[in-house]
Amino acid sequence: MPTTYTPREMLAKLVSFDTVSSKSNLALVDFVQDYLEGHGAVCHRIYDETGEKAGLMAHVGPMEAGGVVLSGHTDVVPVEGQDWTSDPFEVVEKDGRLYGRGTCDMKGFDALALCAVPLAIARGIRRPLQIALSYDEELGLAGAPPLVRAMRDRLPHAESVIVGEPTRMGVVTTHKGGTGFRTEIHGYEVHSSKCHEGVSAVMTAAELIVWLNARMQENRARHEAAPTPQSEGFDPGWTTLHVGRIRGGTANNITAKDCWFSTDIRVMPGESPDAWAARYQAECARLEAELKKIRPEARINPILLTKNPPFVREEGGAAEALARRLTGDNALRAVSFGTEAGIFQSGGYSSVVCGPGDIEQAHKPDEFIEISQFEAGWTFMEKLVDGLCE
Ligand SMILES: [Zn+2]
Repeated sequence: MPTTYTPREMLAKLVSFDTVSSKSNLALVDFVQDYLEGHGAVCHRIYDETGEKAGLMAHVGPMEAGGVVLSGHTDVVPVEGQDWTSDPFEVVEKDGRLYGRGTCDMKGFDALALCAVPLAIARGIRRPLQIALSYDEELGLAGAPPLVRAMRDRLPHAESVIVGEPTRMGVVTTHKGGTGFRTEIHGYEVHSSKCHEGVSAVMTAAELIVWLNARMQENRARHEAAPTPQSEGFDPGWTTLHVGRIRGGTANNITAKDCWFSTDIRVMPGESPDAWAARYQAECARLEAELKKIRPEARINPILLTKNPPFVREEGGAAEALARRLTGDNALRAVSFGTEAGIFQSGGYSSVVCGPGDIEQAHKPDEFIEISQFEAGWTFMEKLVDGLCE
């Protein structure tokens, strides 16, 4: 007999695996794969290059195109340095809430998706239900592209993808994409009284940061003059270019030999992260050529860390129509956080973001999901399963 769990039991089980992004998720994947195969699902794993982490895809129902993908991630953000009042890897119920790391982001949805499988089989599934569980979502969505590619290669194409990030079960049809850099600058040290003979890595960083900020102000001005239709629901409705960290230099009176800073560019739907990355790299190259005239050793090295596509509102999208039918939510919603929806969409899948819980509670100490949200998520799954069994 295959093992079955109530959604609450499944959540407790998933939370008990410490799958902080820096660690292996294989113990969780073993458990989930055993469970799904016990219910007759066809499963495939996609390992990362270390072999310590894997994405998991599963298929139940007829081996044909159509049906739904339920998409979640297995990793969670760290708990170190956070003040938790209970064990983060144990689900604790209190005041109508379920506390634990990942209850909201997003093992709550994962648990509901996994419990939907035996339900669909028991009710007589007639259209495919697929599960996609990624790793490294919290590390710049790194695990989703190989998972989506493998799903396209190895499973029949699903009609709709539901990415269950916490939206309080609201139907989110668009979000920004993004790209991130760590820019390393190597200058040339001289006494600061002879600045013109050296290259200050710190002052070069400042030039690049001013350039980034100028582009952001241009974007803002363009938006305020003439907002695009894609910007509806976004706050702010323009591409932002932000520098969050910087380090460099050794003394007040030495032109800095080294400096690095990190850049986070959040790209509006309708614009391209590739184009923004290329534009920034071109500016780095232009400035580097200037510096080399002073000292040939000078270098600017913009290291690309992440690049993820925006999630664009679909005209008459199947996933949106499905999620609206199941939730009754007809509002136009955009969110400011990135999800795997943009990656599924780029892979040719109609996608939507809709899941239980509030992003407010994600990533914090004492993360929780309201029981009412968890139950609303289960009602959604029951309706979705009914649709697949019609
Ligand atoms: Zn998440």
